[in-house]
Amino acid sequence: MVARSSAHCQIEAAATDAWRRELGQAFTQVDPLLEFLGLHRDQVPTLDPEPGPFRLLVPRGFAALMRGGGPADPLLRQVLPLAAERVLTAGFRHDPVGDGPAARAPGLLRKYAERALLMAQGACAVHCRYCFRRHFPYGALGTYGPRVGVALAQIQADTTLHEVILSGGDPLLLADDTLEDLLTRLAAIPHVRRLRLHSRLPLVLPSRITARLCGLLRTLTPRPVLVIHTNHARELGAAAQAALTALGTEGVTLLNQSVLLRGVNDDVTGLAALSERLFDCGVLPYYLHQLDPVQGAAHFAVSDRQARRLMDALRARLPGYLVPRLVRESAGAPCKEPLS
Ligand SMILES: *Cc1c(COP(=O)(O)O)cnc(C)c1O
Ligand code: SF4
Repeated sequence: MVARSSAHCQIEAAATDAWRRELGQAFTQVDPLLEFLGLHRDQVPTLDPEPGPFRLLVPRGFAALMRGGGPADPLLRQVLPLAAERVLTAGFRHDPVGDGPAARAPGLLRKYAERALLMAQGACAVHCRYCFRRHFPYGALGTYGPRVGVALAQIQADTTLHEVILSGGDPLLLADDTLEDLLTRLAAIPHVRRLRLHSRLPLVLPSRITARLCGLLRTLTPRPVLVIHTNHARELGAAAQAALTALGTEGVTLLNQSVLLRGVNDDVTGLAALSERLFDCGVLPYYLHQLDPVQGAAHFAVSDRQARRLMDALRARLPGYLVPRLVRESAGAPCKEPLS
């Protein structure tokens, strides 16, 4: 299949690989990021002096959205390695949602009826400090080609599977040819009725939404669902809005999931602003996740009581279709469990 160019996509074919260059220029060190934001180390006294292997990673365009936000900026807080990550907290684990036992093949997780999750690859364009996969042994997944071959054979053989979810890492970091090959092979399996991608790239690296990608998504049957992952209204800048509008115009169903994070979005005004901004971008809120208890992220936790109170306030304020479902993922549960 040849991906056609699209009238709706802003980014021309000549700029197809601009996103790779942009990713190569992402911030990987704390000091240059702080300098870019006009901040000094002394203003952020809780920094981790020696962040471990889950290093800082922030594309410059996403960092630009933090400008003027000060040391407590809600976007900065999501990416800045803090000393608090080293505090060992009881009940917080390395595999908080039972991914290990759910693996049917390397990188193929089966937890829920009809749906399987395929980890496309291990890399992300941003490192979110609260990530439940921050300790995931991506290195042990094995080489892409043979591994995905095994996963595809399993999906093909299991006619009870009706939806395949590409997650990661970030599936949109796959090269165009690889992604096209994977999606086309999945779409060709008769019992796969829905294809879903989970990605943070439309907002952290909007240049990834190229004309070629739009063309690929447009030609897919079944029509793809894209679940983006935004926690705060300011993450959706003008470039993200343009990218999402382009995807929506191509017929991609756009949903958002957030994680409820202390100091980022644990207030009703912020949550309402996020839903409204999502709507401006053609995206409907899907889930608001209670934090997965992953070791190193306890400082982001919000109590269930506070979470329910926030949801009540949000429901009293917004139309029902702009209110996400508050859920928790528990190892071994048959679905994401509703909390309110
Ligand atoms: C979250 C998740 C899904 C999708 O669940 P939905 O409720 O359909 O969004 C599917 N498989 C796995 C392994 C998951 O973690
Ligand atoms: S983009 Fe998603 S998978 Fe990657 S670090 Fe952030 S939360 Fe984790």
